[in-house]
Amino acid sequence: MHPLRSLILAAAGNDVIRRQVATAPVSRDVVRRFVAGETTADAIDVTRELVARGLNVTLDYLGEDTTDKALAEQTVQAYLDLLDGLQADGLAKHAEVSVKLSAVGQALDDRLAVENAARICARAEQAGTTVTLDMEDHTTTDSTLRVLAELRATWPWVGAVLQSYLHRTELDSARLAGTGSRVRLCKGAYAEPPEVAYPDPHQVDLSYVRCANVLLRGDGFPMFATHDPRLVEIIGTRADSLGRKPGSFEFQMLYGIRPDEQTRLADSGHTVRVYVPYGVQWYGYLMRRLAERPANTAFFLRALVSRK
Ligand SMILES: Cc1cc2nc3c(=O)[nH]c(=O)nc-3n(C[C@H](O)[C@H](O)[C@H](O)COP(=O)(O)OP(=O)(O)OC[C@H]3O[C@@H](n4cnc5c(N)ncnc54)[C@H](O)[C@@H]3O)c2cc1C
Repeated sequence: MHPLRSLILAAAGNDVIRRQVATAPVSRDVVRRFVAGETTADAIDVTRELVARGLNVTLDYLGEDTTDKALAEQTVQAYLDLLDGLQADGLAKHAEVSVKLSAVGQALDDRLAVENAARICARAEQAGTTVTLDMEDHTTTDSTLRVLAELRATWPWVGAVLQSYLHRTELDSARLAGTGSRVRLCKGAYAEPPEVAYPDPHQVDLSYVRCANVLLRGDGFPMFATHDPRLVEIIGTRADSLGRKPGSFEFQMLYGIRPDEQTRLADSGHTVRVYVPYGVQWYGYLMRRLAERPANTAFFLRALVSRK
């Protein structure tokens, strides 16, 4: 792993640094580049803008690793409120939600996470949209896939995320490539040990292509989450050669990252979904984005110093 990446990921877990950055007079513009804002209204405003530009959206209420039942409940309420807002504003056709099970109680008790996620799924169904379960570190993969299977028994449209850096993912892709299955394929964002994950970025990319092939050959709806221009091109070509029409799969990118490419892909007829995070707990998310790209860190540090 790049030393700067390890350093920033370490900072993401450090309480002292977290307090300093979170309370610094950080330029609103910096956080707003990657995060829609802190409230439901902010999330809905950004969704409206993106949908007007021909993009689809998946919304993430920021927060993870909840070890407090009350906080898990607060997260559920935030999603229910958001889904009401999306429905009321006629945005539910183009905007779904992404949920981290650890934010709704997975670390406390699997049953609580299932019940809470089920409440979000039931409301999403009423609103006319879908839910995707984000994937977290490898210690949670089995539990997340178990919860997915349980939720899909009632709501077959619940989406999963698979991470190509894990050795197991090609097999998981095959298991989840059936009819009705929605699978987001990403590289993976957590610091994982070599026993379970490819340490070399090139191996992660090769695995991404293998998993993408499995998903594209299957009968499900693959969602390719990457900003990598090479992978976007390979997937476009593979989809064509396998007779996959635009609309039978989608590209996904993060809010604020390669926005011009998001529009270009949508204008060329592809379905594109933007992952939009919002909420007061933006710090950990922002740090992960900075860790992925040192250029973003320079941008962030400059803005911190200039205190615009
Ligand atoms: C929609 C979505 C949902 C996700 N959900 C999850 C999840 O549930 N679990 C999880 O572990 N991870 C998730 N991720 C994060 C993902 O795993 C990666 O950490 C992240 O997307 C970076 O990988 P990448 O494929 O973009 O490629 P990278 O290897 O980071 O970058 C490859 C290339 O993409 C281009 N690029 C990347 N970033 C930028 C930038 N800021 N500006 C310009 N070009 C850039 C550059 O050309 C770069 O060389 C998600 C990502 C997306 C897009």
